[in-house]
Amino acid sequence: MELIDLHTHTFFSDGILSPAELVYRCKVNDLKAVALTDHVDYSNIEQVINGALKACSELTERYDIEVVAGVELTYIPPSDIGRMTEKARKLGAEIVIVHGETTAENVPAGTNISAIRACCDILAHPGFLEPLHAKEAAERDVFIELTTRPGHRDGNLQVSTEAIKNNCRLILNTDSHSPQDVLDIQKVCAVLDQCGLEKDYYSKMLKNSELLIERIKSR
Ligand SMILES: [Zn+2]
Ligand SMILES: [Zn+2]
Repeated sequence: MELIDLHTHTFFSDGILSPAELVYRCKVNDLKAVALTDHVDYSNIEQVINGALKACSELTERYDIEVVAGVELTYIPPSDIGRMTEKARKLGAEIVIVHGETTAENVPAGTNISAIRACCDILAHPGFLEPLHAKEAAERDVFIELTTRPGHRDGNLQVSTEAIKNNCRLILNTDSHSPQDVLDIQKVCAVLDQCGLEKDYYSKMLKNSELLIERIKSR
């Protein structure tokens, strides 16, 4: 089975792997695409995007795996998420993720809806997806994340149920920070089981990841 992961961290923020090691480990696990999406705020957005862009072009070519340069806007005040999304894109980020209101952390209230209204690419680990927010995410074509990450994954069942009810595009990511987090089939199956989804539902999420990559590349 092919795999794609569009949410990972390297030592550009709080991940422990270099981009090269992370990408190589993804390649070994049969991923055909991976996005580097380190945590950014006002202090480091330029450096992280520059570093990711350098790593992505070299690694895509040399390891024969699509590597996408992105960021995860993290703990940005909700009123500023729109401006920071635009700023990240202007600086060259191909994919903009927003660190959603996971129940595992005290993310500012209003982050989820601000991310959706900013038309970021992926709302990561939303924690609890409000029905009206799901509707708006579908209208604005913001992808909603299911995650393999312990803690953040506690919201998966509610998020998947609400997202499917509202025709949102769901994708599955790892939010990897270390070698044991890298995506594999077992992690995919665990999330599908948790959400009561059939095994072949992953092919639908994989298509959504492919669609997002196509969209990014055509911007
Ligand atoms: Zn992190
Ligand atoms: Zn993350």
